[in-house]
Amino acid sequence: MSNYVEMWKELGMDLENHDNLCQVLPTAFGDVFLSQQNRPQGMAFWDMVVAEIHGIRPAELIEAQKQGRKVFGTFCVYVPDEVVIAANGIVTGLCGGSQFWVPGGEKVLPKATCPLIKASVGARLDRTCPFFRIADMYVGETTCDGKKKAWEILGQDVPMHIMDLPQMKRPQDLDKWTAEIAAFAKAVEELTGNKITVESLNEAIRVINEKRKALARVYAARKAANLPISGKDVLLLTQIAFFDDPVRCAQMCNKLADELEQRIKDEVSVFPKGTKRLLVSGTPLAIPNWKLHHIIETSGAAVVCEEMCTGTRYFENLVDETQTTLEGQFRALAERYMKTNCACFTPNTGRIDDIIRYVKEYKADGVIDVNLKFCCLYDTEGYQVEKALKEAGIPVLGLETDYTDADAEQLRTRIGAFVEML
Ligand code: SF4
Ligand code: SF4
Repeated sequence: MSNYVEMWKELGMDLENHDNLCQVLPTAFGDVFLSQQNRPQGMAFWDMVVAEIHGIRPAELIEAQKQGRKVFGTFCVYVPDEVVIAANGIVTGLCGGSQFWVPGGEKVLPKATCPLIKASVGARLDRTCPFFRIADMYVGETTCDGKKKAWEILGQDVPMHIMDLPQMKRPQDLDKWTAEIAAFAKAVEELTGNKITVESLNEAIRVINEKRKALARVYAARKAANLPISGKDVLLLTQIAFFDDPVRCAQMCNKLADELEQRIKDEVSVFPKGTKRLLVSGTPLAIPNWKLHHIIETSGAAVVCEEMCTGTRYFENLVDETQTTLEGQFRALAERYMKTNCACFTPNTGRIDDIIRYVKEYKADGVIDVNLKFCCLYDTEGYQVEKALKEAGIPVLGLETDYTDADAEQLRTRIGAFVEML
């Protein structure tokens, strides 16, 4: 990634510290991904993106900024990308998934904060992530307590817009979320200087729906008895979908889906016959958090689906494309986004229904319900999830982990025993 040093310098990054990250990432990526046998050729695109993860896309974003476009950094799948795109803005995900950034976050946050928040704050404060340096505005949400307080730190020197997400799904909550989306549209218009029109929002809704459909096609290929792609590879492309241009993302996913569908016809599998199929549910796995998938897929099992924000929650449900007024479109957006089942809602039984449905659709032999350490929401909800799964006769293993490798061997033992039991 050395060609980008000038760009990183201009972004005011801490080059010395950033070098340490650049040195470990290729080895980690090689060990986890490139060691796999018989990968689909279509993965070459995502391999290339990761190899230059702090180079290619940041350079594109800076070029777009020179043309007058604005970049919005987001942290949650409830923030509607469509609104930003309708104003000719660009969305980039900002959630941190590396232990490298955690100590930086711990300088200002309580240690008992989830690693995703600590890594996101550390990436910003340590100046080792170009995406945080590039974003013209951060968009936060009131999903969990840790994030709410983190916005106050992250918003100190970058404009921060916070969307107040309801935590129940009553009719008045839908009204409130519709109003929040309209207020967000105003903030986006102000920053970009562009008016959002019915036409531009319709086009943005169509673009993001196409991206969702393309991701859904890739996931659908995992329902086949012969798995044409590993869980690790699908996790990787889902993680990168948060950063990529949505049209290109859809094109690449559709191209990959073509290959996967052909592989299914040709009975090509990346796992031996009889490999146990696992569904992973719980807290999101932000890039480059590949730990759990890597352990599972080197312990005699395969991940066939992620009920996560880096998974089905990201692409399920389309936005209605038939609305003809901005009010109608904001409502349609609110309706689609409120269908997402995050543990920040109460009650959240829809999530349990989703998991049970996915177990059937993806023919999973069992579920691993994973919680990022100190995420009180998913940890607490784990009780209901595991109880419901057991009642439905679905084997389940609850795990808690963070971004360090300290528990890797312990996780390997527990996952190995679970797979053996299946
Ligand atoms: S887990 Fe909840 S708070 Fe976190 S990204 Fe997903 S929807 Fe947002
Ligand atoms: S994993 Fe839990 S604590 Fe962490 S940001 Fe998401 S909802 Fe908040």
